[in-house]
Amino acid sequence: MAFDLEMIKQVYSRLGSRVEAARKATGKPLTLTEKILYTHLTEGAAQHAYTRGVDYVDFAPDRVAMQDATAQMALLQFMQAGRPKVAVPSTVHCDHLIQAKIGADTDLDTAKSQNKEVYDFLASVSDKYGIGFWKPGAGIIHQVVLENYAFPGGMMIGTDSHTPNAGGLGMVAIGVGGADACDVMAGLPWELKFPKLIGVKLTGKMSGWTSAKDVILKVAGILTVKGGTGAIVEYFGEGAESLSATGKGTICNMGAEIGATTSVFGYDAKSEAYLRGTERAEVADLANAVKEHLTGDAEVYANPEQYFDQVIEINLSELEPHVNGPFTPDLAWPISKFAQAVKENGWPTKLEVGLIGSCTNSSYEDITRAASIAHQAVTKSLKTAAEFTITPGSELVRYTVERDGYLGTFEGMGGVVLANACGPCIGQWARHTDDPTRKNSIITSFNRNFAKRQDGNPNTHAFVASPEIVTAFVIAGDLTFNPLTDSLTNEKGEQVKFDEPKGIELPVKGFAVEDAGYQAPAIDGSKVEVKVDPKSSRLQLLDPFAAWEGTDLKGLKLLIKAKGKCTTDHISMAGPWLKFRGHLDNISNNMLIGAINYFNDKADTVKNELTGEYGPVPATQRAYKAAGIGSIVVGDENYGEGSSREHAAMEPRHLGVRAILVKSFARIHETNLKKQGMLALTFANPADYDKILEDDTFDIVGLTGFAPGKPLQVVINHKGGLQDTIAVNHTYNAQQIEWFKAGGALNIIRRQQKA
Ligand code: SF4
Repeated sequence: MAFDLEMIKQVYSRLGSRVEAARKATGKPLTLTEKILYTHLTEGAAQHAYTRGVDYVDFAPDRVAMQDATAQMALLQFMQAGRPKVAVPSTVHCDHLIQAKIGADTDLDTAKSQNKEVYDFLASVSDKYGIGFWKPGAGIIHQVVLENYAFPGGMMIGTDSHTPNAGGLGMVAIGVGGADACDVMAGLPWELKFPKLIGVKLTGKMSGWTSAKDVILKVAGILTVKGGTGAIVEYFGEGAESLSATGKGTICNMGAEIGATTSVFGYDAKSEAYLRGTERAEVADLANAVKEHLTGDAEVYANPEQYFDQVIEINLSELEPHVNGPFTPDLAWPISKFAQAVKENGWPTKLEVGLIGSCTNSSYEDITRAASIAHQAVTKSLKTAAEFTITPGSELVRYTVERDGYLGTFEGMGGVVLANACGPCIGQWARHTDDPTRKNSIITSFNRNFAKRQDGNPNTHAFVASPEIVTAFVIAGDLTFNPLTDSLTNEKGEQVKFDEPKGIELPVKGFAVEDAGYQAPAIDGSKVEVKVDPKSSRLQLLDPFAAWEGTDLKGLKLLIKAKGKCTTDHISMAGPWLKFRGHLDNISNNMLIGAINYFNDKADTVKNELTGEYGPVPATQRAYKAAGIGSIVVGDENYGEGSSREHAAMEPRHLGVRAILVKSFARIHETNLKKQGMLALTFANPADYDKILEDDTFDIVGLTGFAPGKPLQVVINHKGGLQDTIAVNHTYNAQQIEWFKAGGALNIIRRQQKA
């Protein structure tokens, strides 16, 4: 599982000079975020990008981390790059596909047999290409990364939205789509819009029931689910230095809920203690040698308003524990106001289930604090009123807390320990309920609580709080109970109150584990065979897409003229389709099924120009493909907004759509289309959208002279012989035009590898 010491040394060797150059170029002191970003600019970008406000910039991240669901397509694509090994240290973590039903051992065995082909593929492809593989049961991606790979001043991308967890150890860690991960593993630069900066100054010191979770619950209430969009949140101040590294991780992890690009804390004594406690003394020594660069400049923190776009101040001494929800993580209630909110809003007061753990809150400190409450259920003769589950974040934590007796404490009050995996947090939860139509309440220490997230039931009101608050509520079974002030009647009929939770940051006897669940890759992977069953419905090796034929494209049919919003979810729906995410042909059966057809206002019903009949979009496109006829998709404004999903670009490419012509694109989707060798075009005159009729055929003209900044033309051949010729714009640079000509960016990389 070795962290890459050489890589860390290289980062630190350029940290000082990049910081110095940036200070000189900008003429001002720097935030920590800027120091890390400037250190990770590619050589080319560093020549000219020491300015805030520049647009998209190329970065060279140090690491890639992938969870098992998103890793499948990222790695199938990477195989196309023709490289013998990944270009940067990378890991795969099997955490998302394990369903919580009975308990850790049984659930894990079931998952291993149900997902065998996926795990076999991920294990073998990792083995072959130099990727560390964390087996099912090893833990949740972000907890495992924090324990093993995160390092102060580093930059990582991960194919999961809670990748920012590593910010707790001072890393700029950003969640991305599989196509970006593939690029970085293939040695390409990674492009990011230079973010805005939000500073959060933490003063005072927490005590009693308040924990790190309450900091982010409070911040979520202030900034809301959109307030962090396009920004990196940097925490600083004496309060920050008082938080454990894992507590900082909790805050950064849940920063994804405010839409932030990522969040980050500076390196301090707590970070050092955590590195040493997780057997990374060498990393701590290296970090100590450059520690003045692993925090923001003193002038910045003295006058944050001058250097951040927005500043928030929170006094930890006054911060109350919070409960957020239901249905959104930014509905923040201080505990003193929560009971009243429950009553006034008519939310179900009876708590049915409490769930602690997840990647957000499963550190040794979290478990010990929650266990100190659980222990009181026994010592104070309190009967546990609600169901209770515990999800350890990693085998390292699970083994250690079991050794130290804490899992026994939870089981003593009726808790069920689940596998070290995402489980209920991602909806992998076979919840036992007698009546799913009943409005009901659950409370978790996870991060997301949107409707249906945990159990698929729209009637479930999910609240979010710290593990210790969740544990207290589980015992009380009533959301109008305030664990800080109220009493409960115990089995002897006495009134008893909880003592404040007490936790231990790092295990006194050190962490321990028998089998962490790690598989190191082969030193020489050339002989390793990647395991994909040709009959599999979930996995399919990719074939390279065909190169451009060298001529204008003629006689293209209109597949669909999409009306209004067309997000990546309309283009490639999630839900049940996700089980096919490693099988391009099968998942292509969801292509554009959510888009609304302009001509009949219906979803997934378009005219097949070969038969004149209406049918589903994917089947219609397959008919064109079988007949050797290309097609185009026409769309409205901001086509492809939403989460970066490479399938939304790969599916049309796979099924033979040649161009997407829209009023405007969401930028990430436009880039994804270019990477796949598609034509992404915009109407020079948006009103030309109205000229597109259902029975038109199209010629795309000017491709032999395709050049940056030079518009192309589309000839619209209407039924009956009338023609319109319109200008269409594009944003392809010279490199991207080469991608188009080669049939996709990976075809170019493969060619370069062979040369
Ligand atoms: S535990 Fe939840 S938030 Fe964390 S990686 Fe898994 S699904 Fe995502």
